[in-house]
Amino acid sequence: MLLPDLRKAVLDANLELVRRGLVLFTFGNTSGISRSKGLVVIKPSGIPYETMKPGDLVVTDLHGKIVEGKLRPSSDLPTHLVLYQAFAEIGGISHTHSEYATSWAQARRPIPCLGTTHADYFHGPVPVTEELSDKEIASDYEENTGHTIVRAFRNVSYSSVPAVLVANHGVFTWGADALASAHNAVLLESVASMAYISLDIHSQAQAIGSALHDKHFLLKHGKDAYYGQPKEKK
Ligand SMILES: [Zn+2]
Repeated sequence: MLLPDLRKAVLDANLELVRRGLVLFTFGNTSGISRSKGLVVIKPSGIPYETMKPGDLVVTDLHGKIVEGKLRPSSDLPTHLVLYQAFAEIGGISHTHSEYATSWAQARRPIPCLGTTHADYFHGPVPVTEELSDKEIASDYEENTGHTIVRAFRNVSYSSVPAVLVANHGVFTWGADALASAHNAVLLESVASMAYISLDIHSQAQAIGSALHDKHFLLKHGKDAYYGQPKEKK
């Protein structure tokens, strides 16, 4: 079996979406990539999470050709492939229709950064894509979803804001590996619910100031990051 460790990691990341209550039934999907081999491992389409095994996952190349697997890959595979090609440093992608984040996507409003929880993980508002044209929906819909996501990052760094709201649809998140992308999906849902509640309490609530925003994001992500324990040198 190809890529047994990546298969296990991607399965675990898919199950993390279930454990955290982000997906219903067979919704949602996570993938991971081996950049050295140019292969993607993704959840199969329509298989219940409870019975999913590492061998059920599907291995494809970056053009979507199945390299190993008996089942059909998630129908969102073409979106994942566009993102892997456009965002060179990511190692994993998750897609969910989690309730609060998807509500922002349906309202087609970016999630403003109102506090440090958001600032810790997303360096700025979480953008929303433009809606697809009828033509883009009629053919290569999933691939065009990927392209509209990439367009939303023309002026936003995908490594500083590892999440997007797809207009009238749901969310994609990414990270260094599959589990990191699932964690970002969990964090996105949390900040989406808090932003909604904050604006309900006070509709004129203002975005966090840039000094506090930078302080928090760079604490975890900058070259001088000092949150947590120092990494062991290997
Ligand atoms: Zn979807």
